[in-house]
Amino acid sequence: MSADAPSHFIRNLVSRDVAAGKHGGLVVTRFPPEPNGYLHIGHAKSICLNFGIAKDFGGVCHLRFDDTNPAKEELAYVRAIQEDIHWLGFEWDSLRHASDYFEVFYQCARKLIEDGKAYVCDLNAEQVREYRGTLTSPGRASPWRERSSEENLDLFTRMREGEFDDGRRTLRAKIDMASPNINLRDPAIYRIRKISHQNTGNAWPIYPMYDYAHCISDAVEGITHSLCTLEFEDHRPLYDWYLDQLNLRSHPELSASLTDPQVSRPEQTEFSRLNLDYTVMSKRKLVELVQKELVEGWDDPRMPTLSAMRRRGFTPESIRMLCDRVGVTKQVNVIDFGVLEGCVREDLDKRAQRRMAVLDPLPVTIENLDEGYTADIEVSNHPQQPELGTRTLRHGRKIYIERTDFEEVPPKGFKRLIPEGNVRLRHIGIVHCVGVDKDDTGRVTGLRVTLYKPEDAPKVKGTIHWVSAEHGQRAQVRLYDRLFSVANPDSGEGSYIDHLNPNSCQVIDAAWVEPAAADGVAETRFQFERIGYFVADRREHEPGKPVFNRVVSLRDSWAKR
Ligand code: ATP
Ligand code: MG
Repeated sequence: MSADAPSHFIRNLVSRDVAAGKHGGLVVTRFPPEPNGYLHIGHAKSICLNFGIAKDFGGVCHLRFDDTNPAKEELAYVRAIQEDIHWLGFEWDSLRHASDYFEVFYQCARKLIEDGKAYVCDLNAEQVREYRGTLTSPGRASPWRERSSEENLDLFTRMREGEFDDGRRTLRAKIDMASPNINLRDPAIYRIRKISHQNTGNAWPIYPMYDYAHCISDAVEGITHSLCTLEFEDHRPLYDWYLDQLNLRSHPELSASLTDPQVSRPEQTEFSRLNLDYTVMSKRKLVELVQKELVEGWDDPRMPTLSAMRRRGFTPESIRMLCDRVGVTKQVNVIDFGVLEGCVREDLDKRAQRRMAVLDPLPVTIENLDEGYTADIEVSNHPQQPELGTRTLRHGRKIYIERTDFEEVPPKGFKRLIPEGNVRLRHIGIVHCVGVDKDDTGRVTGLRVTLYKPEDAPKVKGTIHWVSAEHGQRAQVRLYDRLFSVANPDSGEGSYIDHLNPNSCQVIDAAWVEPAAADGVAETRFQFERIGYFVADRREHEPGKPVFNRVVSLRDSWAKR
């Protein structure tokens, strides 16, 4: 077990199991996404946990697509999920699909029927709901509950052969209609759904329910620790019931499907979800945002998906850092988006090369330099990391500075440029402002300055950044902010859509960046000095047409609002 791995109740549990020689000392986990959308930051917690536990204990982790609900599943999602897991820095031992086990599920269902533990029910969905009872009243037995095994087997075979229409019959577990746990009131095992499946095509007109398929998949794969989120706590008795009834290892035919007969039964353990404020994480809502074109797609940098965070410039390291910091507990809580941004800043501060960019350019002429003058200045790419090398900054007589770095009537404490004032231009030297040019409306259109010789320069308090007007490149820069304007878009009246932040994306078309930023390959991250961290957009940035996304500002400005 790696020394820096944070300890938590699941790691402790696995540690005890390994020490006790349970499951032959093996650790096998899985990450089981349903391919009905892109992965989001919440999934990252489950990925880090499942892959992390396997790695720490010398075990393996499988990627299993939980594809038992074909109506919402797509091959495009299957592909995107794999790409995102790799990007996050994990590699699965093997790739599986719940649908690989459709035949096993089917044979298991036949065994349940033969053992009198499952029956074909003709009630429709509404009747099933009616018969199920409520939290305070017991359910009633379906009139079809006492069908003989022979009749059930015959009907179930015909369900599988496609003889009945969608919803006409279900196969149900025969458990306890009076159980205080509603999940145990004869839950459905199979439903009829004549719809094509992204992995099995039209081979099956019936599909197993999640609870039934999940525990059998775990058992077949020899999963030792089946880790899931808290909403499945009430489903655990059903998970155990199926495995108890099926007792796969003792079954002559079914045991052949087990990957690792050494493993005793998988055990489910629940932990709390990762929730973030100022966003929504349910896939239904994320699909809706995409389909209604309220965002520009799954990887719109404002989305909480991993592909969006990647495009936004967040590093996999920072997302893993967040997952380590929030830990693994059963406590339900909401993490401040600022905590994630803090992880991103911490990571990028160490690694991102420094560059200069001007978002709102104000032209400045250095009047005591000749027309055609150029200077090359060798500067380091990172103040603390000499191994990140140096680059050449070139400038001539004309540069741009940030419009906000000049004030005609400076507020108290303003340390940057003012008329007749001095300021240090980063890497160039100290300049004196000799003239302010304006248009008819009084708007400042340019400044004239003179550069001091180093030996004559006065002391100054402020240093500002700049980009050479002759050597820099014009760039598009997008400033992203929270997608929603309230911390919990799901609470209160109306729809979460009413709370979209209208100012979540500001596009600047005429920013200026130094060539060593413009020429970077897509996905390169920089600190634009004094402004923030930026990434060359992985889809739109090209040589000659630079496009940058703001990853995060240098400081947390949101907390103050
Ligand atoms: P939704 O209900 O929005 O469709 P889901 O939780 O069903 O999402 P799955 O694809 O089934 O999504 O999730 C795959 C795995 O990731 C599951 O084990 C699930 O518990 C876990 N997971 C999903 N969301 C979170 C979250 N916010 N925090 C931690 N784990 C999560
Ligand atoms: Mg799910």
